[in-house]
Amino acid sequence: MTFDETHLEINLEALAHNYHVLRQKLDPKTLLLAVVKAYSYGHETAAVARKLVALGINYFAVAYAPEGLLLRNHEIDTPVLLLHPLPAHFETIVAQRLEPSLYSLDLVRHFITYLEARRMEQFPVHIKFNSGLNRLGLSQSDAVILQELLAKTKAIRIVSVFSHLAASEDPNERDFTLDQIARFDAFYDTLNQKLDNTPLRHILNTSGIFNFPEAQYDMVRSGIGLYGYGNDPKFDQELVPIARLKTVITQIHHLKAGQTVGYNRGHIADQTMTTATLAIGHADGISRLYGHGKGAVLIHGKKAPIVGNVCMDMIMVDVTHIDCKSGEEAIVLGPELPASATAEAAGTISYELLTSLSQRIKRIVVNS
Ligand SMILES: *Cc1c(COP(=O)(O)O)cnc(C)c1O
Repeated sequence: MTFDETHLEINLEALAHNYHVLRQKLDPKTLLLAVVKAYSYGHETAAVARKLVALGINYFAVAYAPEGLLLRNHEIDTPVLLLHPLPAHFETIVAQRLEPSLYSLDLVRHFITYLEARRMEQFPVHIKFNSGLNRLGLSQSDAVILQELLAKTKAIRIVSVFSHLAASEDPNERDFTLDQIARFDAFYDTLNQKLDNTPLRHILNTSGIFNFPEAQYDMVRSGIGLYGYGNDPKFDQELVPIARLKTVITQIHHLKAGQTVGYNRGHIADQTMTTATLAIGHADGISRLYGHGKGAVLIHGKKAPIVGNVCMDMIMVDVTHIDCKSGEEAIVLGPELPASATAEAAGTISYELLTSLSQRIKRIVVNS
């Protein structure tokens, strides 16, 4: 089947493949949490989440409460860990039973006060420990004060204690990661002495699963791996990108030496060349970073580099050596042209390229 408009194919069979690859790295008892923040890393929340539920996912995580509401609106009732709760979202959090990550004593106090005012008890929460990323999290010295706060309230129940690694994909930072894991152990042990339940423990993201399987504890959190990227060519091989972004050639131009292409005459032809104009631009998430040959598309399986500057709605690519015509398709990313490689060529990462893919691009679910 061919489509004549720009679209992102979401391959649910590839998602299932990645899910099983990750599961096989885990102890059968270890729970798997799927990170589906930012529209499932730019893919499509509903279809991805539903498929993961069918596969047996244990938990979801999102960054912000409206993303959790989106899951609930799609009738997903799996537990949702909310990574970055804001006081402005407390109402949604409670109404949708999203489980906030409490990352500071201030936030703990604030949330307890909110719940107590509504006479709520045993609301499920997660305690975030800052083991070295220095982004969000309680410190070791907060543990004792947290215990005192917990002793005085029935409002919250701690479902898990977790932390986040700063460089789990980087073999040169192995010692730093091991130190993060040791700090996490110490915090958990301090806190756990005074709790009447035993919370789940988790610290690994996708690269952690690949590189530090001994630290999987009770649960692991995977985002990028489920979408088919392993942050390392050796792990990429085991996974399949679930998205393929396709666009269409709308016009061909034959240029003479000295003629220029695009805004600000971004490219000057040094000899005769042929360009194809494609129906995708920076408003779709193909940043200007990919201009001037940093990014390329595939046409009839051959690489066509982006020529000059990326426009808002279009790019021009070099098809001098490719026999093609308007109406034909171009692949912008997919298993045959991984987002990781394109991103790296432009000095960024797969995460940014994928999450930038704008809502203007039509999503089409295949192999469901
Ligand atoms: C985004 C995020 C993840 C997922 O990381 P991946 O590298 O995509 O697996 C896990 N944990 C936290 C706290 C996150 O913010």
